[in-house]
Amino acid sequence: MFFWLLEMLFWVGLAGTPGWFLGGPFGAVLGALIAVFIYAATLLWKLDRLERWLSAPVLRQDPPWHGVWREISVRVQRMLRQQEKLAAVHQKQLQDFLQAIQASPNGVILLDEQARIEWCNDTAAAHLGLDAQRDRLQHVVHLVRDPVFARYFAQDEHTSEAVIEGRASSVVNRQKLSVQLHAYGEGRSLLLTRDITALAQADAMRRDFVANVSHEIRTPLTVLSGFVETLQSIPLGAEETQQYLHLMSAQSDRMQSLVADLLMLSQLEGSQLPSTQEKVSLAALMLQVTTEAQAFSDWMANKGQGPVHQLEFAPVPDVYVMGTRSELLSAVSNLVSNAIRYTPLGGRIQIHWSSSPEGLMFIVKDSGPGIAAEHLPRLAERFYRVDRSRSRETGGTGLGLAITKHVMQRHGGELRIESVVGQGSTFRLVFPQSRVVGESTPAA
Ligand code: ADP
Repeated sequence: MFFWLLEMLFWVGLAGTPGWFLGGPFGAVLGALIAVFIYAATLLWKLDRLERWLSAPVLRQDPPWHGVWREISVRVQRMLRQQEKLAAVHQKQLQDFLQAIQASPNGVILLDEQARIEWCNDTAAAHLGLDAQRDRLQHVVHLVRDPVFARYFAQDEHTSEAVIEGRASSVVNRQKLSVQLHAYGEGRSLLLTRDITALAQADAMRRDFVANVSHEIRTPLTVLSGFVETLQSIPLGAEETQQYLHLMSAQSDRMQSLVADLLMLSQLEGSQLPSTQEKVSLAALMLQVTTEAQAFSDWMANKGQGPVHQLEFAPVPDVYVMGTRSELLSAVSNLVSNAIRYTPLGGRIQIHWSSSPEGLMFIVKDSGPGIAAEHLPRLAERFYRVDRSRSRETGGTGLGLAITKHVMQRHGGELRIESVVGQGSTFRLVFPQSRVVGESTPAA
């Protein structure tokens, strides 16, 4: 500043002196004014040149002038570079931060003081059907047209979350979203969305399961307590008493089977995956299954006073399945006992093992009533029954196929069902080749 003042005085003096000689005091003032004007114009021109040089988009070279202007240019340029670097660092931090929020499995929406969308991640956009670009600065309540959401938003306090329908909801599959608003900064807020569909489904399943179990246990219990009351209040003859005791025993057997199946299910859910080291011999396993199947078929024939089933067991391949014996026995026995229970007396049941490119298969084919196609996808659900009365009559719990399916999943395999009404059913267990060891040639 001092330098420019001196420089200006110098030019004022230089122009004022000849003015004094030419026109006296008036000439001196005029000369000085002209000098000031020219000096100011030169200063403005230099400033403009500096400004243009600093704002050039290309990488800046050394300033093409000297002296104090060069010094100023270099300093300003250095300051600008430092600021650019700082801005780049901040920009990078912001991008990293936004990328981290973008990667969140939950939806995040930043709202300004008027609850307008400033930014939202892709998850939130998918949850609420928003477009991150198009809906910027739009009021969130105008876009999320759910009365529950509007009511939640209008509340003064947002200490708890609200549950609304997600954009991906359809008539068949409802998407449930949990939304919660958190205040931050000065009047701003953060809206978080979370897909809780699976949680809600699991909760509904748990409630259904408890209701089903209670119902299944209550029925035989009611019958049992009715018999006990009768025995206590009415004097019965020996034969009648025996008959009652026999019926009571059947009800307690039913409860026992139910509890045993429930325990099996909870064990399957809570235990470690089956070992890949334990070898289960198919021959030994099938020896037990065959004996039990014959005995069960005899019992059914006896009870129903009809001919026994034609049970056809094909030779068993000399192989081992790596897994848990008790689980495999349960899966295989459930299919065989179902075939016996649902096939009318005298019907044909073929049981065999075979190797296929997909793996080892256990196949049970019966000549029973068959199952309508609409039931097939739900057959392995807990307590799902097509023929409720037949299931109860023959000691079914409604859990057999659920257990079988679970066992197969734990062994990396699957349960497949094919059936045509009036033509019988075929149930298959497919074990992956990785779980099978030994020759697959049938043993005698
Ligand atoms: P349950 O103890 O009632 O037999 P499952 O889970 O073993 O329960 O079977 C579910 C339902 O599938 C049964 O109630 C029955 O209606 C049907 N089902 C199973 N196996 C057969 C079969 N071989 N033939 C016809 N229906 C069957």
